[in-house]
Amino acid sequence: MSTFDAAIIGSGPAGITAALYLVRSGCSVILFENLAAGGQILQTEVLENYPGFPKGIKGYELADFFVAHLEGLKLTRSRDAVESVRGQIGAFTVKAGDAEYSCRTVVVCTGAKHRTLGVEGEDRLQGRGVSYCALCDGNFYRDQPVAVVGGGNSALEESLYLAKIARKVYLIHRRDSFRGAQVYQEKLAALSGKVELVLDSVVDQLQADLIAGLTGVVVRNVKTGEKRELKVNGLFVYVGMEPRVDFLPPEVERDPRGFLITDTEMRTSVPGIFAAGDVRSKLCRQAVTAAGDGATAAQAAFVLMEQLHA
Ligand SMILES: Cc1cc2nc3c(=O)[nH]c(=O)nc-3n(C[C@H](O)[C@H](O)[C@H](O)COP(=O)(O)OP(=O)(O)OC[C@H]3O[C@@H](n4cnc5c(N)ncnc54)[C@H](O)[C@@H]3O)c2cc1C
Repeated sequence: MSTFDAAIIGSGPAGITAALYLVRSGCSVILFENLAAGGQILQTEVLENYPGFPKGIKGYELADFFVAHLEGLKLTRSRDAVESVRGQIGAFTVKAGDAEYSCRTVVVCTGAKHRTLGVEGEDRLQGRGVSYCALCDGNFYRDQPVAVVGGGNSALEESLYLAKIARKVYLIHRRDSFRGAQVYQEKLAALSGKVELVLDSVVDQLQADLIAGLTGVVVRNVKTGEKRELKVNGLFVYVGMEPRVDFLPPEVERDPRGFLITDTEMRTSVPGIFAAGDVRSKLCRQAVTAAGDGATAAQAAFVLMEQLHA
């Protein structure tokens, strides 16, 4: 079994950047991605805040640019999901599919996945009214009423996107103000006829029938206890993310929400394992910060390998 200098797990903005930097430094790299390369940006209609694109860029277009940047580079790619990482600095074994790969360092770039609301029927109604991706599913609700749950950037951005498609958008948030960027809040305020804010409220119940799927939601005002029924065919949930870290050994330290703790050089608590992007514990989870983390992790892994070879 040949040994790779680095195994990079995940090819979103963090993983692709890490691969780019490590290969250009002369390292042998294996890049794992079990879904489409690009990661979460494939679920984003337009990124308005990625530097270099003052008019914004569609998520899939940015993903294509990222992937194109790897073309012609000498690296090995696997389409299998990584199931486990074991071993120690200089001698890790990464298991993916039926194969095991030996590598000196590991760069974890597996990002994060959406949290669920935890309301009865949510699982059953996924794909039948409940969604976590407006870009993927929004078109099914053309000219129909929908609701969005959440108060951060994703919820605001996706409400704006859905307002272009749906007849009406209810934006449900459990507090009376949003965490998301002011620029999105202003755009939503300008759409007040189309987007109705349902503040201080949580989703208590999903209403559905066997044939039509979701038919409505019952929201409860957390201050007054008052309940209100919203007739919607689609419910888009943006209530935060959780990291994809199940395949890692418990020695890799996590924060209370499960995100990987790193130092400023992206080193985790296990020497030789680095983490970059949304998977790590940090303030700002965005494409540009993920790419920055990927570059730093790659450089730190490279420096470590030079020390190992010395
Ligand atoms: C709806 C939405 C809108 C957003 N809008 C913006 C925006 O406007 N601007 C902005 O900058 N950011 C935006 N973001 C955030 C941005 O997309 C993320 O911060 C960024 O994609 C994180 O990059 P990453 O490489 O860390 O992880 P991800 O993009 O999550 O990529 C991780 C990759 O790892 C793969 N993977 C996971 N586990 C495994 C495994 N075990 N084996 C193999 N592969 C694995 C996944 O399939 C995925 O492709 C948005 C996100 C969402 C969901």
